[in-house]
Amino acid sequence: MTDHYQSIDVPFNYRHTCWFCGEPYFESFGFMPSPNYEHQEHPLMLPCCQECLSSCKSIKVSSLDLLRDRVKEQLHKRYAKHLQIGVNWTKEELEDCEFEGKALEGFRESAWAMFEIAKERVNYQGWPISIDGIPVAGITNVFQFEFDGIFYTGLNHAVQQLALKYGIPQPYLEQVVELVGRSKMAYALRFCKTSYGYSDAQIKASLESLKALLAEEVANDSVAAVNKGAVLSRSFAIKEIKELILYRTQISSYAIQWALEREIDTLQKLADQEDAFFEHFSQDSEVVAFTYFNGLQIYLEKRETDPQWAEQEDPNRELFERF
Ligand SMILES: [Zn+2]
Repeated sequence: MTDHYQSIDVPFNYRHTCWFCGEPYFESFGFMPSPNYEHQEHPLMLPCCQECLSSCKSIKVSSLDLLRDRVKEQLHKRYAKHLQIGVNWTKEELEDCEFEGKALEGFRESAWAMFEIAKERVNYQGWPISIDGIPVAGITNVFQFEFDGIFYTGLNHAVQQLALKYGIPQPYLEQVVELVGRSKMAYALRFCKTSYGYSDAQIKASLESLKALLAEEVANDSVAAVNKGAVLSRSFAIKEIKELILYRTQISSYAIQWALEREIDTLQKLADQEDAFFEHFSQDSEVVAFTYFNGLQIYLEKRETDPQWAEQEDPNRELFERF
């Protein structure tokens, strides 16, 4: 009967270890996907501690990484109070604080250790899964989300757990994270925690003020970007640029200035910036913009197809060399 299951490889260092959380081994769990999309034939044996084994038995999922995530989520739930210690205290605060009474002193002594054990278990990454030396593909960590040294199975899981830990209504935190972006979880939590209150009206008002704040930041950023552009790109005085006529087409010195200041010296670069060009010159008149653009195209094409002319005869050759 032994050939009716497959065991994952267990590296020497990990003998007697739970693959899910790193606690001591108790028994292996035979995992069969449900639904079994890949038509796996035999249970895959995974070393478990007692607790993860009982979690596994209650979970029905279609893949190993989902099984791992569900087990982790159960650990998070079961040890929420222990994980909370790290939110409420730092190690130093806990050491310095004066608890009175035997029970509280006991708490002080064991609290940080409980926090660290819970943290290690939820963060534990197992070892890469292989069977008879052949890696098992498709087990991914990409959805994991880390905040404040703790791993969550994904952004939703993090939002749900952090809302709980910080006493913030989950839908509120969700909306704030959506507005500020997943990389700004600390900001989102701070914003939610310093909100006036969590009634529907208060949340609505806070979200409105956050939107206004973010819009203002975007505006400031684009002003900064424009200023930065002005500093970084070269500026060319209109009087040092020579207007010229090529193939009976006049090439405007304003168009040449625009190109020089953006380091545009090929037709391709001009094509890439076509929208920006028209946005800039159409303010005066579309006809002017079109005439300028047409002239600039002829000019840049001449420079590209006739390098000798560009190097020796172009009246603006020195300006292009400044790039
Ligand atoms: Zn375990």
